[in-house]
Amino acid sequence: MQNWIAKRTAAFDSSGIRRVFDLAAKLENPINLSIGQPDFRVPDAVRNACTAAIEADKNGYSQTQGIGPLRDRLQSDLDARYGHEDRSVFVSSGTSGGLTLAMLSMVDPGDEVLFFDPYFVMYPALIRMVGGVPIAIDSYPDFRIDCEKVAAKITPRTKMIIVNSPANPTGVTATREELKDLADLAAANNIALVSDEIYSAFMYDEAFASPAEFNPQTIVIDGFSKSHAMTGWRVGYVHGPSEIINTMLKLQQYTFVCAPQPAQWAGLQAIDIDLSQHIADYRRKRDMIVDGLSDLYELEVPGGAFYAFPKAPRTSGAAFVEEAIAKSLLIIPGNIFSARDSHFRISFAASDETLQRGIEVLRALAK
Ligand code: PMP
Repeated sequence: MQNWIAKRTAAFDSSGIRRVFDLAAKLENPINLSIGQPDFRVPDAVRNACTAAIEADKNGYSQTQGIGPLRDRLQSDLDARYGHEDRSVFVSSGTSGGLTLAMLSMVDPGDEVLFFDPYFVMYPALIRMVGGVPIAIDSYPDFRIDCEKVAAKITPRTKMIIVNSPANPTGVTATREELKDLADLAAANNIALVSDEIYSAFMYDEAFASPAEFNPQTIVIDGFSKSHAMTGWRVGYVHGPSEIINTMLKLQQYTFVCAPQPAQWAGLQAIDIDLSQHIADYRRKRDMIVDGLSDLYELEVPGGAFYAFPKAPRTSGAAFVEEAIAKSLLIIPGNIFSARDSHFRISFAASDETLQRGIEVLRALAK
């Protein structure tokens, strides 16, 4: 098997997150605040729609772009919301599938792609996978979008900017003004703006805003994984200018083929589910974390998603996480998501009891 492994795979690794999961596997009854998915059940109507589709023999391939009824519904919602002349949608194999196809469709070898540090782990890996050059924009200590910093990183090779609000791992949400400035900057410089809106349902203090409201060429990637706790079902969707969407579809045809068909029928049902009780629960859990830690930790209040990203006291993020794991508390070191090793990620998608136990351990560790 000499030289079988392609060189592109050496450009990134996944050892950091694996190390955390290896440590986790050794814990007997961990206080687990490391999980990147909701802790509620897939809503009953969504489960029923999936099993009904299976029983009705809707088990084959769908069209590459997704089943008609789901696409039509997404398209009419988008048309009502944005009123853009040229915005079309397709169903992808999760948000991850959409991100992968966006990179393959728009990033040539040597192209630079800007994103904010801390970042979702997949961004630099995907950029490298297609031969692009990841350019991180440090957003510490408040994790806000600073357009001057972005402008300073733009070169003739800049092809794409990725924005993610609400953000993983910080939970920070960008303001409408920040998103407008970023949208205008991308438009003025002919740079593709990709907006990862997977956490858009989880907004606690303000209404969700998308840069697509300000820049009609924004490529938006969204999905049902987080909003409806269906991460394993692999249904996402992408909307943007039709030339980009058609290119992504050409590639989807030869890679993912389509999103799982029964899960697409479930997605159609999911659009009409009222999530307000879950959002209220997560807002309360967010408040538990903020109230429980803010006097002892440097912590930006998360306006969305289900993450908080406090600064580790005394030590590095990685050293602090080892101390926490020694007390059976599972959290993720910030250096998984960042060039810096100063913070750690808490997921508050957990039971109140688990959160309370986690807060107690963190309070004891800070003293
Ligand atoms: N983007 C972000 C910011 C995420 O946190 C995640 C999931 N961790 C994804 C995309 C991928 O989600 P999906 O399950 O839809 O592929």
